[in-house]
Amino acid sequence: MLVRFWGTRGSIPVAMSSAEIKRKLVAALVQAAGRGLHTAAQAREFIEHELDFAVSHTFGGNTSCVQIDAGHRDYVLCDLGSGARVFANSIMATRGPTGHTFHVLMSHMHWDHIQGFPFFMPAYIPGNRIRLYGCHERLEEALRRQNAAPSFPVDFSRMGADIEFVRLEPGCEYEIAGLAVRSKVQRHGGDSYGYRIERDGRSVVYSTDSEHKQDDTDEVRAFVEFFREADLVIFDSQYSLADAHSVKEDWGHSSNVVGVEMCQLARARRLCLYHHEPTSDDERLAALLTETRRFEEITRAEHPVEIIAAYDGLEITL
Ligand SMILES: [Zn+2]
Ligand SMILES: [Zn+2]
Repeated sequence: MLVRFWGTRGSIPVAMSSAEIKRKLVAALVQAAGRGLHTAAQAREFIEHELDFAVSHTFGGNTSCVQIDAGHRDYVLCDLGSGARVFANSIMATRGPTGHTFHVLMSHMHWDHIQGFPFFMPAYIPGNRIRLYGCHERLEEALRRQNAAPSFPVDFSRMGADIEFVRLEPGCEYEIAGLAVRSKVQRHGGDSYGYRIERDGRSVVYSTDSEHKQDDTDEVRAFVEFFREADLVIFDSQYSLADAHSVKEDWGHSSNVVGVEMCQLARARRLCLYHHEPTSDDERLAALLTETRRFEEITRAEHPVEIIAAYDGLEITL
């Protein structure tokens, strides 16, 4: 099973500023001084192997969209944030405009999780099929309202693909494009739902926009069960622990520290930090990853949890 990240930012899409690009260039040029990089190949090699991730890459700025690729001919996505536009363009460029089936598991209808759909080109093309799954009663209404005047010039009714909404019951298991899928309600404004997706003994949990109350032992126990021995837990770590317990308490998001603790209890194999804070630049996110790895090390009992930070374009093989 391959997990591809098309959008990893929380709340609103962001772009890198010129100041940030300049900081990267300065850091790269200083580090390259005296290295005798005379060809493009030498420069590429240097960038790939010697520069820190925060200098040579970016975490990216598109909002939530993750693809689960288990080799089925249909496509499976979690959420339709602005990353869904990039996914769709890539499919159309490499596999053609029509004849595709997309299955989308929707966590909830906040704007950062649906805003890619008006720009999801296959939705406008007859011959494509899109099945939107979710536990919310008003999922269809939210997507139709987004694709309507006065917010958008092209009405939902003009989308030429065969679009179907499928209501899921939390806790029940469904078979979707060869995957076993189960959802769980999460603490978030208007509720959100996490998904546990399994196939051939491999499991990934998509759990974004979810606040955890550590003193609610029943809730913690239920999530530990949901994350139990997962190969990968994609986890909402938008806030710092301090924020999550003070100003931003009850804003519906969680922290890296809570993610580590839950994955340790659940004996999950990997924790992927996700739904990044839009005000964090690449240096801040890289520092968050380093801090989280350190925290995991010092709190580890006997079970290690590998810590990863999601970025737009990341692929993880399970
Ligand atoms: Zn969100
Ligand atoms: Zn949300």
